[in-house]
Amino acid sequence: MDFGFTDEQRALADKVRAFAEERIAPGAARHDRDGTFMPGFFTELGRAGLTGLGIPAEHGGSGLGAVEVGIAVEELAKAEVTACYPVLNAALIGGIIDRSGTEEQKAAWLPAVAEGQSVVALVLTEPEHGTDAAAIGLRAERADDGWVLTGTKTSIMLGFHATHGLVFARTGDDGARGVTAFYLPLDRAGIERERLRDLGARAGGRATLEFDHVTAADDEVVGGEGEGFVGVMRGFDHSRALIAVMAAASAQAALDDAMAFARERTAFGKTIGQHQGVAFPLVEHATRVHAARLLAYEALWRKDAGLEHRVEANMAKWWAPRVGVEATHQALLTFGHRGWSDEHPISRRMRDAIGPEIADGTENATKLVVARQLLGREHAP
Ligand SMILES: Cc1cc2nc3c(=O)[nH]c(=O)nc-3n(C[C@H](O)[C@H](O)[C@H](O)COP(=O)(O)OP(=O)(O)OC[C@H]3O[C@@H](n4cnc5c(N)ncnc54)[C@H](O)[C@@H]3O)c2cc1C
Repeated sequence: MDFGFTDEQRALADKVRAFAEERIAPGAARHDRDGTFMPGFFTELGRAGLTGLGIPAEHGGSGLGAVEVGIAVEELAKAEVTACYPVLNAALIGGIIDRSGTEEQKAAWLPAVAEGQSVVALVLTEPEHGTDAAAIGLRAERADDGWVLTGTKTSIMLGFHATHGLVFARTGDDGARGVTAFYLPLDRAGIERERLRDLGARAGGRATLEFDHVTAADDEVVGGEGEGFVGVMRGFDHSRALIAVMAAASAQAALDDAMAFARERTAFGKTIGQHQGVAFPLVEHATRVHAARLLAYEALWRKDAGLEHRVEANMAKWWAPRVGVEATHQALLTFGHRGWSDEHPISRRMRDAIGPEIADGTENATKLVVARQLLGREHAP
């Protein structure tokens, strides 16, 4: 058994940490205030190799594993949670295209994703169907020379910024087998986008997308007609573990800041860290965050080892964001009134920490997946 990273993985962590500290952390408060990333942000992520980590080398990426993507997400999240979403989306959607796309599609699309030229969004959730994603209603109707898509998607992270979307549409009967995935440029005629006003992750440009008779070609279908839902669910086994790493890393950064403050701030003649009532809650949260991080990395490691990882990824996804929110809350309280101010980074971390509890499936949705695996489908809710 080995809990350590390899030399190469440590070098990657050092590189991403340096990039995040220099290029992302200084702008995090501005991203939050302005509700957008700095100009050129996505291509900068691409130049730093972060959007191409998991994309095969023959398609312009580095061909690294799920653990390496996790390492990048972890280091970015310490600087700014929202900065992780382009990397998460590139890993999730790049992975789906790599697994399910044709050779022509991979050659045409993946290099631009790796370079950060194509900013990709997962376009699944609808106003009427979220957790019950297999029930989506946006229709893709057969036309003479392809398809015509009509309907509404919402809550699409990066939806306002993205150049391309992996759009899930109903092409067949009710249920999962009637869903097809299309990879489409989001500036195509008939697509309107509207930003949502969010509690956190404000630079992420979460958006509602209206599709009004949007055309799609046959060679924009990914993985075949009726195969879309299966593809995305397999992808979630990867992205859910990544979100767990992200949540744990942000919480760890919050705890690190709180502990630094606890070493300096004095009250009643000693540092506040010397008061057990301050130190022990921080220790308890640090313990949970540590365990959640390990569980998330175990899921990523199992994926790279070719082992089943659905249970671990979904366990990590429900637990790490909750642990992260609770730890970040405790860190905020450690700062006293300072943590309540918009000027203090911990207040942004607190708001940003809540989104991962919902994104890619809520706590209940992921527990359902685990329950079906542990109890068996016939004995699970
Ligand atoms: C920060 C953020 C980023 C996101 N990014 C994306 C994205 O990029 N692309 C995308 O397509 N979507 C995205 N989403 C949407 C997200 O995937 C959905 O919000 C999520 O799947 C839940 O769907 P819903 O909000 O419609 O909730 P609903 O499905 O309406 O559920 C409402 C509540 O009921 C509970 N519930 C529902 N069904 C059950 C059940 N069977 N058993 C027990 N409880 C149940 C849920 O857990 C939830 O608490 C994002 C959301 C957030 C907050």
